[in-house]
Amino acid sequence: MDSTLQYLYDLGQSFFILFAIASFVLGACIGSFLNVCIYRFPNQVSMFKSRSFCVECRKQIAWFDNIPLLSFLMLGGKCRACKKQIAFQYWAVEFISALILLGLFVLFGLSPRLLWLSFFIYSLLIVTWVDFKHMEIPDQVTMTGTIFGLLMAPLFPELLGESTRLKGFLDSFLGLLVGGGIIWITSLIGDMILKKETMGGGDLKFLAMVGAFIGFKFTIMTFFVAPFFALPYALFQKYVKENELVPYGPFLGLAALFNIFYGEELLRLIF
Ligand SMILES: [Zn+2]
Repeated sequence: MDSTLQYLYDLGQSFFILFAIASFVLGACIGSFLNVCIYRFPNQVSMFKSRSFCVECRKQIAWFDNIPLLSFLMLGGKCRACKKQIAFQYWAVEFISALILLGLFVLFGLSPRLLWLSFFIYSLLIVTWVDFKHMEIPDQVTMTGTIFGLLMAPLFPELLGESTRLKGFLDSFLGLLVGGGIIWITSLIGDMILKKETMGGGDLKFLAMVGAFIGFKFTIMTFFVAPFFALPYALFQKYVKENELVPYGPFLGLAALFNIFYGEELLRLIF
């Protein structure tokens, strides 16, 4: 770690409580932004179009009714104008987001890993919500995520376990190709055997993004670990709900997260 980062890290440690509170508050604000993404991406509403509005009565929401976590509680979960119930999802996403940033700060301090992991987990949160609801993965997430992953790899190659900037970039770029390629080949084979679409373009772009984040080795592992996460849900869907549709993005993301934390251990266990 270079000296500026070391300084930031130490700063975070000496004002631990202060920064912990700040990361919780910032996380809640990010959650509020994620709610906008979750609503607008699949509905093709521009991110630049107007302020937040009530999804029931379309009335703009005043700033004092738009304070993360607090406004929902103060309004008793109802829109001030039309008194219709506001979905609890909004509050839940803000709270989860706040916990995520707090947790990552406690684990990693003010560090590149905090930035890198929070970006990844927040992207995964949007993907999970949208994919379960609409069976699609928004391009806005995979595009920005891929670019972010490709930029972070040469800047902080140690995040991918690489020693030089060039190796970091190559690992990330190869991860992108392998992630996209492995899904592309699987879907070709799947389509031939099952004669229907097995995996969508969204999954392809999403695993490419995962590859840009975590490099090619863990991306391959992610591909093989994901079915274990997806299987219980797929069985539940098939036999309880009698519906064979399974959004695969959330499970790919969960498997990637698993590999970020336990990938090395898993490799040692296998070989
Ligand atoms: Zn309303």
